[in-house]
Amino acid sequence: MTGVNSPAITYLDHAASTPMRAEAVDAMMPYLREQYANPSGSHRFARQARQAVDESRDRVAAVLGCHPNEIVFTGCGTESDNMAITGAVTRTGGVAVCSAVEHHAVLEVVEHHDGSVVGVDAAGRIDLDELAATLDQVIEDGRPVAIVSVMAVNNEVGSVNDLGAVAGVVRRHAPGTLLHTDAVQAACWLDLRTVTPHVDLLSLSAHKFGGPKGVGVLVERGGPQVDPLIIGGGQERERRSGTHNTAGIVAMATALELTDAERDAEQRRLGELRDRLVKGVQAELDGVTETVPTDDKVAGSAHVCIADIESEALLYLLDEAGVCASAASACASGAMEPSHVLSAMGVPRELAIGALRMSLGHTTTESDVDRGIDVVVSSVRTLRNRGRR
Ligand code: PLP
Repeated sequence: MTGVNSPAITYLDHAASTPMRAEAVDAMMPYLREQYANPSGSHRFARQARQAVDESRDRVAAVLGCHPNEIVFTGCGTESDNMAITGAVTRTGGVAVCSAVEHHAVLEVVEHHDGSVVGVDAAGRIDLDELAATLDQVIEDGRPVAIVSVMAVNNEVGSVNDLGAVAGVVRRHAPGTLLHTDAVQAACWLDLRTVTPHVDLLSLSAHKFGGPKGVGVLVERGGPQVDPLIIGGGQERERRSGTHNTAGIVAMATALELTDAERDAEQRRLGELRDRLVKGVQAELDGVTETVPTDDKVAGSAHVCIADIESEALLYLLDEAGVCASAASACASGAMEPSHVLSAMGVPRELAIGALRMSLGHTTTESDVDRGIDVVVSSVRTLRNRGRR
């Protein structure tokens, strides 16, 4: 099997999953090999595992700027999002509200509970006036608002929401309502200590910042705010049952600390590489539009819409050449459908079907970017030539 680390592979899909940091792999190994005891047990090895979980809780809380007791370890970002929304709806019987560009882990849960979806601007940020009007309408209809969920950073186009401003609208128009943010894409780019104070609930997922898959966090500020989703053994102070993933939790804490320590330098380095990538493609090809302006998005996000091609065909050629990237267009009944994010942002269909997301991360180098430019340019030329025949 060719690994993603093979020199023949150019990995530009860090928003989907970023490689584990070597330090995080090293940190988890002892808990897979020797210290495998169940942290809920009472013998000495169980107590050691318990201590590792508790120390990780302290380390994660320090990066998030919250109290360790506010941290709930979960099985992934999707679970954290589900717990926030379903837990708030079942606790209050109220209406869930979210933005139209949320990840499916939020959007589908809100829709499942017959909630309300609020539009966004051309950069993919929630429309604050529409949010205010939606909250007023729900309350006028005589229903409480259970929760408002607005993502910190969008996974497709990289846009950043001003959560201070969102919190202001929620406090004014629906005082007492829980504010949740899906910060799954934020850890590499935003100092989470500046995000946490604005919200009641915050979701994270370790595999987006160099930790393993299958472990996440839900921050519940001020103690339990929502009903638990998974009940049974009573772990996490009855907030989330299920035997702790000790190795994953320890590795997540290690990856989060490193991400936090390197964030400023990585933003500068990757911002320059991202600009080189987008400008390099634009210099060689006409009809390549950057979907969100550089100033409105995170440094690792290179999302472009390429005229006269379809993403699916482009991704196929990129994959053949060993370049890993993505697009969120869905092929429904043979016709390319733009992603829900681009549709909500008002990107015209003919542009949206040529969407390409290249996302950079801690292992990205200048040569990855230069190879990415070469392969994207030659693949788009091939597709455009085919289209002309
Ligand atoms: N939320 C966002 C914004 C994401 O990008 C993702 C993963 O792509 C998730 C939630 C789901 O996280 P997980 O893969 O840990 O379930």
